[in-house]
Amino acid sequence: MAKDFSVCPRCGSHTLKIVFKSPVKGAWEVYNCTTCGFTFRSSEPDYMTDPEKFDPTFKIKPEDLQKAPMMPAIPPLRKRQ
Ligand SMILES: [Zn+2]
Repeated sequence: MAKDFSVCPRCGSHTLKIVFKSPVKGAWEVYNCTTCGFTFRSSEPDYMTDPEKFDPTFKIKPEDLQKAPMMPAIPPLRKRQ
């Protein structure tokens, strides 16, 4: 059965877009999630491409992205003397 690449393995959103296709037609595609930025190749193992098998430790909730700190943090601007 063909794999289903309609759901992001990391955040569960239905916002995957194909960003690159293999030079050999039909070998693989690269998907990018426009919600969380997760990117993977369709030929990677199930634990990277299947939402059911993706390590729960590394899953994120789309609503939490708004609360994520900027990394690295931008320090306050220096005042001119
Ligand atoms: Zn995602």
